[in-house]
Formats: sequence, C-alpha cells, structure tokens
Amino acid sequence: MATHRTKMLIIGSGPAGYSAAIYAARAMMEPIVVQGLQPGGQLTITTDVENYPGFADVIQGPWLMEQMQKQAEHVGTRMMWDTIVDVDVAGGSPFTAKGDSGDEYIADVLVICTGAQAKWLGVPGEQELGGKGVSACATCDGFFYRGKKVAVIGGGNTAVEEALYLTNHSDDVTLIHRRDELRAEKILQERLLNHPKISVLWNKTVDSFAAGPTGALGHLNLKDTQTGETSEFATDGAFVAIGHAPATELFKGKLPMDDGGYLLTEPGSPKTDVPGVFAAGDVTDHVYRQAVTAAGMGCMAALDAERFLANLEIDADGHAHVAEKEAAE
Ligand code: FAD
Ligand code: NAP
Repeated sequence: MATHRTKMLIIGSGPAGYSAAIYAARAMMEPIVVQGLQPGGQLTITTDVENYPGFADVIQGPWLMEQMQKQAEHVGTRMMWDTIVDVDVAGGSPFTAKGDSGDEYIADVLVICTGAQAKWLGVPGEQELGGKGVSACATCDGFFYRGKKVAVIGGGNTAVEEALYLTNHSDDVTLIHRRDELRAEKILQERLLNHPKISVLWNKTVDSFAAGPTGALGHLNLKDTQTGETSEFATDGAFVAIGHAPATELFKGKLPMDDGGYLLTEPGSPKTDVPGVFAAGDVTDHVYRQAVTAAGMGCMAALDAERFLANLEIDADGHAHVAEKEAAE
C-alpha cells in the first residue's frame, strides 16, 4: 500500500485519458494515469480503425492505443495498473482516490476518463450462456466460431462492424435488428448489405437465449416487433452489440449526471460542477462517442486543468483553494 501525490490524476486509459496525459505531461504537471481493467480502452477490442486522422492506411485499434500510451510515457506520464474503487471530491482540491490495490492517490486536479462499457440485453439465458455462445466482443471471441453459424444483435456501427469482422471466421452471419433501418454509418451499411456471407433479420427482438443439448447456446427465441410472431433461430454464437453504458458508478451521488448516467459538464467544456474535477470522452458524451472526439476532450481537460492549477493557492495550513481572480470568473 502506497500513497501517490500528483498534480493531476487521470482515471482511465482510453483516447481521452492518454490525450489528457500527453498535454499534462508536456505542461510539467507530472500526471498519473490509473489505467483500469481495460488498459487502452474500447479500441483495444476492435480491429480496423480507418477514421482516426493522421493515418492514410487502415490501422489496428490495439496498435493505436499502444502508440498513445508510449507517447504519454515518453513525455513523462506515470502509468499505474490499478482500478479506482472510491473517490472523495466533497472537500474540494486536493482530491483523494482509492485503488483496488489498496494504494491511495492524492491529486490537485482530477480528470475522469472512465469511458463506457458494453450493454447487455438483460433477457433470460444471456448471463448463464456468457462464454458458452453468448459474447459482447466479436474481435475477442469470433475465432471460436470458425466455420460455425453466428448472429449479431444490434443495428449501430458496432453491430455492423462485428458482423463484418465475423465473416473472417464464419460463412453464415446474421444481423438481428429490432427495427427496419440501421443506425450505422452509410458506408458500413453498404458493406454489410452487399456482403455475401451476411443476412439481416429485420424487426426482431431476442426474448431469450436457449441452451442446446451440449449445454452451450443452441438457439435464440425471437419476437417480431411488427406482428408479435415468435420464432426460434438456431445459432452457435450470438454477439450482443447494442451499445454502451458510461462507467460512472463510482461517482453516483458525488458528481451530477444525466438519466443515462453520463457525467454532466458545462456546455462545450470538460468542467464538472466541482472546481478542479474534469470529465472527458465517452463518460460524458452520449452523442459523438468517437476516439477522436474523446482525444479532443482529453486535450481540453488538460488545458483547463493547467489553468485551474495556475490559479490554485495553498494556504499556510496546506489547504488548496482557487484564487479569487479565477473564482470570480
Ligand atoms: P474508453 O476507451 O472507454 O476507455 C475507458 C478507460 O477507463 C479504460 O482504460 C478503462 O480501463 C478505464 N476505467 C474505467 N473505470 C475505471 C476505474 N474505476 N478506474 C480506472 N480506470 C477505469 N471510435 C472511432 O473513432 N473509430 C472506430 O473505428 C471505433 N471503433 C470502435 C469499435 C468498437 C468495438 C467499440 C466498442 C468502439 C469503437 N469506437 C470507435 C468508439 C471509441 O472506441 C470510443 O469512443 C473511445 O474509445 C472512447 O474513449 P474514452 O477515452 O472516452 O474511453
Ligand atoms: P449505438 O450507436 O448506440 O447503437 C446501438 C444499437 O443497438 C442500435 O441500433 C439500437 O437500436 C440497438 N439496441 C439498443 N438497445 C437494444 C435492445 N435492448 N434490444 C435490441 N437492440 C437494441 O451503439 P454502438 O453501435 O455500440 O456505437 C457506440 C458509439 O461508438 C457510436 O457513437 C458509434 O458511432 C461509435 N463507433 C464508431 C465506429 C466507427 O466509427 N467505425 C465503430 C463502432 C462504434 P435502435 O437503432 O433501434 O436504437
């Protein structure tokens, strides 16, 4: 158990966290990044990334995040392989946070970049058959379905990309969507609809996941949203790709959030309503949710944090407070 004192604690190591770290380290703020259970964030569970600016050729998500981590380290960021389990923001700066490791972090500013995690349907059989046919990550588990029949549930970018990716392993991929229109970008829709290995089942919801004779997933029980008609859909694998929920459990009752659990910030700014606490990336963004927007918000958080620190005064008794000039702004 150790205590780590830093000017800036960044919670989360996706594009937002690493970008905040790069800017903060270059401003001599000696940031610490606590990486959490998914070092590199969501892009580490995807393959091709072709919309992150700066790369003429398609790059791989895990590679991009490795580069961001190295860049942050090269300029002076300390990476901690820990997960924050408690934070105290009530008394203002300095803030304290507790790691799963037992370590304590004390920081003048806090930048929250905890991102988002996959959502589940919450229907019978889903949890029970997790790892036995039901998954939320095709790039992680697709390999296990080589030559088998698979389904993807959802109609957004993730679902379409998962279906396309699964064609590397399976010749029989079905996308199951609850409406008759996809939410995914047009370019991805075109690739999906023209793909010879992919079929689409429109207007269907999954009522439950059912085991086959081996105990692994055997079929999905579907319901037609237009007619109410029920049917069975035999499949070896099912990939749930219905979006993500922000990782904000830690901050409930401590920082304001919207009905979806996304942290609220000042419009157009990463400032939360606690001076010195900033939020950036998918944890505060239910609209854009892109690597490049998360990175941009991380940069903004670091720049605002630098300004906050410049106005922070330390009392004779060691308590920090915001200088009157900044507080009056
Ligand atoms: P995340 O990437 O979600 O990272 C969150 C970080 O917080 C993780 O490191 C996690 O370990 C950490 N964390 C969480 N809780 C704690 C805690 N308590 N303590 C410490 N750390 C914690 N976007 C694109 O622009 N292009 C794409 O091609 C693209 N493809 C995608 C493919 C898939 C399959 C998915 C799921 C998303 C894709 N996205 C893509 C979206 C993009 O990945 C996200 O918008 C982006 O990763 C958000 O970055 P972030 O830094 O806000 O958070
Ligand atoms: P999303 O855009 O929120 O789409 C979720 C999909 O799941 C929607 O089609 C939704 O249906 C469906 N859905 C939600 N709840 C459901 C339920 N209970 N039952 C059945 N279906 C349900 O989520 P996402 O696809 O994960 O994308 C998240 C963000 O990451 C987006 O901003 C996306 O652009 C980004 N991303 C980008 C890329 C890329 O740029 N290449 C790749 C992946 C993700 P409805 O359409 O009916 O609402």
